[in-house]
Amino acid sequence: MVHSVEIVRNPLYPPSEPPEDVVYWFMGEYLENYSVDVTVVHMDLTDEGVDGWCLRESDYEFIIQIEESLEGKHYKQTLLHEMYHVLQHLMNIPRCEMCAHLSEQINLDRFKDTM
Ligand SMILES: [Zn+2]
Repeated sequence: MVHSVEIVRNPLYPPSEPPEDVVYWFMGEYLENYSVDVTVVHMDLTDEGVDGWCLRESDYEFIIQIEESLEGKHYKQTLLHEMYHVLQHLMNIPRCEMCAHLSEQINLDRFKDTM
């Protein structure tokens, strides 16, 4: 299956962690059976009051918007949270916020073990 990742950075706020590592790891672990095209856009979401969004553009295209000032663990955790929403969309299961929240720590620990 085809996995495509595009990262849109704000040059004023370069991500503290390489987002590709997290996104490709998640895809390898959970989305092997799906073709998926993910664009991660770093932007100012302070007005929205959220750390991230996951938008579905088509059957296989997703846009993740992530607050550009996030760093370190919080940044990776938010990215993993939004990738979990991609998984929920692809599997056609409810976009359960509690499940996405619980998945964050589990996947952060699993991801760390691969580093
Ligand atoms: Zn969420």
